[in-house]
Amino acid sequence: MGDRWHVEVDRSVCIGSAQCLHHAPAGFRLDPARQSHPTASDTDANERILAAAENCPVEAIAITLRDSGEAVFPPED
Ligand code: SF4
Repeated sequence: MGDRWHVEVDRSVCIGSAQCLHHAPAGFRLDPARQSHPTASDTDANERILAAAENCPVEAIAITLRDSGEAVFPPED
């Protein structure tokens, strides 16, 4: 069975660049203040969400494994 991910955007860091929407249009939305929100806090593991997190210019997107809380992105040192 595939992993389930928990996705969070740190809105104190997000600069509203919309890169996440470019990489994962179904995974994020921008509110009127141009702050990104995941469309669902829990999701099946998928490459688009990971690409969004990897390409966020300010690393505002954090992905963890829903069950264990283990970091998916950014990876733990
Ligand atoms: S890519 Fe990062 S900074 Fe840009 S809107 Fe998405 S979360 Fe915010």
